[in-house]
Amino acid sequence: MGLIIQKFGGSSVADAERIRRVAGIITDTYKSGNDVVAVVSAQGDTTDDLIEKAHEINEKPSKREMDMLLSTGEQASAALLAMAIEDLGYPVTSLTAWQIGITSDSKYSNARIKQVADERLRRELDQHKIVICAGFQGVNKYDDITTLGRGGSDTTAVAIAAALRADICKIYTDVDGVYTADPRIAKNARKLNEITYDEMLELASLGAQVLCNRSVELAKKYRVNLEVCSSFKQIPGTVVKEDVKVEKMLITGVAKDNNVTRISVIGLEDVPGVAFKLFSLLGQNNINVDIILQSIGRHGTKDISFTVASDNTQIALDVLHESYPNNVITYDENVSKVSVVGSGMQSNAGVAAKMFEALYSVGVNIQMISTSEIKISVLIDRSDANKALEAIHDAFI
Ligand code: ASP
Ligand code: MG
Repeated sequence: MGLIIQKFGGSSVADAERIRRVAGIITDTYKSGNDVVAVVSAQGDTTDDLIEKAHEINEKPSKREMDMLLSTGEQASAALLAMAIEDLGYPVTSLTAWQIGITSDSKYSNARIKQVADERLRRELDQHKIVICAGFQGVNKYDDITTLGRGGSDTTAVAIAAALRADICKIYTDVDGVYTADPRIAKNARKLNEITYDEMLELASLGAQVLCNRSVELAKKYRVNLEVCSSFKQIPGTVVKEDVKVEKMLITGVAKDNNVTRISVIGLEDVPGVAFKLFSLLGQNNINVDIILQSIGRHGTKDISFTVASDNTQIALDVLHESYPNNVITYDENVSKVSVVGSGMQSNAGVAAKMFEALYSVGVNIQMISTSEIKISVLIDRSDANKALEAIHDAFI
């Protein structure tokens, strides 16, 4: 017996049959004597379809109206799921972020949750109701609806788990856990029983699209026990937690990220302050930079290359062209970032060499390299990404 938060992604509630299946999972949990709060995403491709619909009407709709529109996807699936549970004869109520009191900052389309009020949720639970919450949304200080960025329902679930001090937050999805690599690409990939928050954070941000990054940050901050599991198979998933004892692996996973563009600014003056000026400019424009490479200065000039997320390419180029009218600026969108992640590498030399050897063995050229305590990333040609990922995976795992 306990308080369990269950989150169901878009594919898990894609149609009536799947909604009924999810209703079954929730009521089974409830029947065993638990309090259940479920968080849902919009059904299937609803969010993408709504975005398309918006653009049929206005090519540049305001973010406020976009949030007004997109949040309806989650509201619909929350109500539908509640109806399926009603039909099974259980007490249930669906709630939007506004009804719960999930407040966020004002950044439409990518808002951060500030607080989750627990009164309404507790009141419903005290009346022994199953509560279904619309994920992905918040309310800002202007009483406007915001959305939390793509994949944001995970964050809603974790925030609710933290606010209610739930025993566990289970993220139900169409995969049955976190794998050592995308099994569609690396045929030897296997499921992990456990993974640390930090490893999961690296993998999430590297494009292993299992959990949204912010949800893992939040889980780490509030020590929420997370489990990623399948909504189709009744088997244990992958537990995300602070310390992993069982499997002490050197490398936990290999991930590929295609959402990346390399930009180079050529012929910058080789004097102090140049990098500062460049990256401040990008920062002021809310452009996150990932891998950075600066060439050795020659003949008084140097080049700086860096990567940005693909959807920031145009704004980055616009900003750079405006501020560096006399420099050549090049970019390449046909790149991928492939990374190995593992807390075991902190105490082991030779991980980088082994990774580069694997790349060499399949003839893949490295454009850029970056490392952190538990991660090594390389930027390579996108057409090489799948074979690189598989070669690296099989070298370590
Ligand atoms: N429906 C939103 C999206 O597709 C949020 C979510 O699924 O978590 O990004
Ligand atoms: Mg979705």
